Amino acid sequence: MRLRNKPWAKDFMAEHPDMLIVNPEDKKGLWAKEFGNDAPIHIEVGTGKGQFVIGMALANPSVNYIGIEHFDNVIVSALEKAIESEKPANLRLLRFNGENLESVFAEEEIERVYLNFSDPWPKSRHEKRRLTHARFLKKYEGILKPGGEIHFKTDNRSLFEYSLISLTNYGMKLLSVSLDLHANMPEDNVLTEYEEKFSSKGQPIYRLEAQYQAK
Ligand code: SAM
Repeated sequence: MRLRNKPWAKDFMAEHPDMLIVNPEDKKGLWAKEFGNDAPIHIEVGTGKGQFVIGMALANPSVNYIGIEHFDNVIVSALEKAIESEKPANLRLLRFNGENLESVFAEEEIERVYLNFSDPWPKSRHEKRRLTHARFLKKYEGILKPGGEIHFKTDNRSLFEYSLISLTNYGMKLLSVSLDLHANMPEDNVLTEYEEKFSSKGQPIYRLEAQYQAK
């Protein structure tokens, strides 16, 4: 992700507290109140410029979505898109590091985690930073309802193979695995920015759905 310096980002974020939650820790355990309903809450960690999470919110009004991105300069692009889409009522954005999910969400507050084109961190000394490392799987488990799911898409075969092993070793059940999602594109597939970029170059898109099992 190319980062452009956007000196106006902080002020712009502060102008839209109804969409970009400034102090998300204050909402821990209170997200249903924030959305004003008890609909399931799905989060995307590493939401980037927001195309996926906004598209999902528009396509599925009976689900609440939270897009989480840790760079100001990137999340403001998602905020701009959300404003262009007239701020869907079932969407919130957080400028936040997914390392600290447990400080923002209570146990069992979330039903699904989306990971899309997560940074691959190819060097083995950076393995712990991969969003499908057991360290992160434990964090997601801590906030998901029993039977919660992870849905993951990537163009990176090595990261995909690593993730299949990591999720399986963690005891998760693989519900579906695709080695070429676009060969049989599901009707309800919402493209991410990276998915558009890589698939237009002819690269296969890998996808999996996995579910936590009772221990
Ligand atoms: N999901 C988008 C897509 O598919 O187009 C963006 C993919 S981009 C390669 C990965 C994004 O994840 C970057 O914007 C990065 O800043 C963000 N990211 C990586 N680690 C993160 C973390 N721990 N917490 C929040 N965001 C993170």
